[in-house]
Amino acid sequence: MPQHTRPRQICPDCDGFPTVAITTGQTTPTGHRQTLTVTCRACHGTGHTTPARSHTRIGA
Ligand SMILES: [Zn+2]
Repeated sequence: MPQHTRPRQICPDCDGFPTVAITTGQTTPTGHRQTLTVTCRACHGTGHTTPARSHTRIGA
């Protein structure tokens, strides 16, 4: 079997976990824990690095 599946480049900034829920320690008036969802700014929540260049081949 050909294995040409290229491993995705995991975002070095979030290590592949682009969204993290942070507990603020406070509770909402309804009694739920208040959490903040933080999205990795480096990969914009994709979890992997996006190629800066397009498929344009830069030769010579
Ligand atoms: Zn990231």
